[in-house]
Amino acid sequence: LELAYGDAQRNKRLRVLINPYGGKGYATDLYAQYAAPMFEAAGCKIDLETTTHSGHAIDLGENIDVDAYDAVVCCSGDGLPYEVLNGLAKKPNASEALTKLAITMLPCGSGNALAWNLYGTNSVSLVALAIIKGLRTPLDLASISQGNTRTLSFLSQSYGIIAESDLGTDHLRWMGAARFTYGFLVRLIAQKTYPCDVAFKVEMDQKKDIKEHYLAYKNKKPELRPVGGGDQVGKGLPPLKYGTVDDEVPSDWEKVSTDTIGNLYAGNMAIMSADVNFFPASLPGDGMMDLVMIDGTIGRMKSLSMMTAVEKGQFFDIPEVEVRKVSGYRLIPRNQGDGYISVDGERIPFSPFQVEIHQGLGTALSK
Ligand code: ADP
Ligand code: MG
Repeated sequence: LELAYGDAQRNKRLRVLINPYGGKGYATDLYAQYAAPMFEAAGCKIDLETTTHSGHAIDLGENIDVDAYDAVVCCSGDGLPYEVLNGLAKKPNASEALTKLAITMLPCGSGNALAWNLYGTNSVSLVALAIIKGLRTPLDLASISQGNTRTLSFLSQSYGIIAESDLGTDHLRWMGAARFTYGFLVRLIAQKTYPCDVAFKVEMDQKKDIKEHYLAYKNKKPELRPVGGGDQVGKGLPPLKYGTVDDEVPSDWEKVSTDTIGNLYAGNMAIMSADVNFFPASLPGDGMMDLVMIDGTIGRMKSLSMMTAVEKGQFFDIPEVEVRKVSGYRLIPRNQGDGYISVDGERIPFSPFQVEIHQGLGTALSK
């Protein structure tokens, strides 16, 4: 039995958070039916709480005793892990908390990107098993500097057609997940573009180099993070080495000013939702985000064929898809009035922001 766990920590102490409003609202039942019996059989120690309002998990993260648990298990979509991370970020010893506590999810929401990326499945019982056997691995987190706020992102940021079709279709909730596709197609047909100024700290911009980097990384044995987090005791969030959005753009950053961008999307993980492998070369622990930019005037047929390529994981090879691995970037929207910017699927104000990656600041439980 010992051997069956390999390098994995046994009898994990789990802080289970249930979002009763996530996805179709079945999280409580999904947990009780598919996950709880497995956690019990594996001798996990469970401390369960159901969220009562939006933002609740920020408070729960801020006040959690980091020495009492090994992992936070969010029964939700990607919204709850985002809140928990940002709660941990408010602690005076944020870095210690983020290296001690692993963050993971039981897929009970609409997006569930975290579960797709860590475990390759949307099945609650299979994910429960993967958590029981899960290995503590470093996870890159990004700081988003906007106004005078600093928030953490584990998954993605988007501006343009993706942000609008995710966030701007709330009035079409009756359509279910089809509202994303509908919102996307409407804007695609209109050939909507999103003027902006972008600056980035480029780490790699040749597809050949990015592919090689990806393959080399994939073939390595994953780095494991020790139980207890290691050497971060008492440390707060790391300082921002690129400064905030209000500072001068660092002199070695590349600048692009565009009137015709259709889609700007930065990802720390490959899969954004079921069958959407948008960042096939991204790696959650390499200290870089994959920044994809696509011109909004490339033509409707071309754009539609891209959608198919995304589903097949062939997106990377399309010449019109610009990919850079960056360790930081700044985006200044130039559209008048209001618009959409999404961080991990949540809306943030429509104003300039800067992103800086912190390699391995967070901890995940991976296969
Ligand atoms: P989904 O993938 O369906 O969007 P998420 O888990 O991402 O599900 O959660 C969506 C939102 O639900 C989050 O923004 C979170 O703040 C909010 N939320 C959490 N608990 C509650 C609650 N008890 N009532 C209403 N909203 C909640
Ligand atoms: Mg990465």
